Amino acid sequence: MLDRIEVDKRSCALICPVLFDGRIEKIRMKRNNNIIYMCEECETVWERLEDIVNQIYGPAPISGYMKQNGIDTKLFRKEDWDKHVEHVGFLTLEEIEPLVKNISVDLI
Ligand SMILES: [Zn+2]
Repeated sequence: MLDRIEVDKRSCALICPVLFDGRIEKIRMKRNNNIIYMCEECETVWERLEDIVNQIYGPAPISGYMKQNGIDTKLFRKEDWDKHVEHVGFLTLEEIEPLVKNISVDLI
């Protein structure tokens, strides 16, 4: 379980707890409306909020996740991505707060 999380002070977005290299984006998969979470830099994917806290990582980068779900992104251009995914903002501390009660939070 995570013992500490970092939050971007300006956007209130959670910072990737794997490499601390970017913010965590929320991505809507258009075919089933599922929301997944992805680091904007290293593209680590988490399928559930609980997975972030419990340090259960999906495949990185996101192309691996897509492949696992039967979508080959090898020749994808921007418009092809848009057919499958929609960026719906960053994951904020408020959204994950119920899960991180005993975890220290650093605003950076
Ligand atoms: Zn990252």
